[in-house]
Amino acid sequence: YAAKKRTEDIVQYKQELMTSTPESLSLLSELRQAVVNHELRVYLQPKVSSQDNRVIAAEALVRWQHPEKGLVPPYQFVPFAEQTGFIRELTKWMIREIAAQWHGLQKGNDTFRVSVNLSTRDLMTTSFPEFLAQTLREYNIPASGLCLEITESAIMDDPSFAEQTLAKLSNMGFRLSIDDFGTGYSSLGYLKRLPVNELKVDQSFVFGMIENNSDRMIVQSTIDLAHNLGLDVVAEGVETEQMYQTLAALGCEEVQGYFIGKPMPVTDFKEWREEWNARHGLK
Ligand code: C2E
Ligand code: MG
Ligand code: MG
Ligand code: MG
Repeated sequence: YAAKKRTEDIVQYKQELMTSTPESLSLLSELRQAVVNHELRVYLQPKVSSQDNRVIAAEALVRWQHPEKGLVPPYQFVPFAEQTGFIRELTKWMIREIAAQWHGLQKGNDTFRVSVNLSTRDLMTTSFPEFLAQTLREYNIPASGLCLEITESAIMDDPSFAEQTLAKLSNMGFRLSIDDFGTGYSSLGYLKRLPVNELKVDQSFVFGMIENNSDRMIVQSTIDLAHNLGLDVVAEGVETEQMYQTLAALGCEEVQGYFIGKPMPVTDFKEWREEWNARHGLK
C-alpha cells in the first residue's frame, strides 16, 4: 500500500512539472519568496451560533501582503498554488501559523476551534496526517481544536482515497467540514459514509435565498439533510440581517458572513470578539 502511494505521489509530481510555463514559474518563485519574506497573512472570520450568539469558531483564510500589489485575495493565487502543488507548502504554513496563535485564541473559551481549508493535494499527500499530528504535539493542541474544511470537489477527485484519509483524520479527533456544499458533484452516497461533522451551505444559495424560492428550498433541504444525518450546519455569506433571521428560523445553528464579521487579522479578531461578547452579554 505504501509503495503504491509513493508511486502516486511521484506521478502527481510529474504532472505538476508538466504544467509549468515561464509565467507560472515566476509566480511560483514569487510565492516561495512570499513565504520566506513573511508576506502571507492569516485572516480570521468568526462563525457564531444563531441560537445564543456564542463565537464558536473562526475560519482561517490566507492573504498575501504583497510589497507592490498590496493585499492580494486568495482567488488570485490559491487556484494557481493548487495547480502547481505549492498549496501543500501553503497549507502547512497556515497550520503552523494557526498552531502558534491557537492558545492565545483559545483563552477563556475551551470549546473554541479554528477552521482551516484543505485542498485535494493535502488529502492526497500520504504524510499529511502525520504532519498535523506532529504540529499539534509540538504546540500542545488537541485535535478537536481544529476543524478541517474540505470541498466536495476535493473529495470527489478520488473518493475512495479521500474516504480513507478522512477516516484517519476523524479517528485522530479532527472536526471535519464539507465546504461549499451543493456546488460540487455531491454524492449523497459518499456523504453518508464520510465521517464528517458539519456541512457548510454554499454562499451562492444564501445570497439567492431571499429572492429566489429555489435557492431557499435548497438551503432548507440542506439544513434538513444535515440534521437528518446528525451533522451541524453552517451558512456562509450571511450579509444581511434578513438572511441571518431567515437562516435562524430554518434551524441553521451556525452562521458566518459580513453581517457578523469580515475576515480580519488575528489581533483585530480578538478585539472584535471582546466587543461582540460585551454587546451580547456573553462572559
Ligand atoms: P471559502 O473557504 O468558502 O471561504 C469563504 C469565502 O467567502 C472567503 O473568501 C470569505 O471572505 C468570503 N465571505 C465570507 N463571508 C462573506 C459574505 O458575507 N459575503 C461575501 N461576498 N463573501 C463572504 P476569501 O477569503 O476570498 O477566500 C476564497 C476562497 O479561497 C475560500 O473559500 C477558499 O476556498 C480559498 N482559500 C482561502 N484561504 C485558503 C487557504 O488557506 N487554503 C486553501 N486551500 N484555500 C483557501
Ligand atoms: Mg472554507
Ligand atoms: Mg465555502
Ligand atoms: Mg467558497
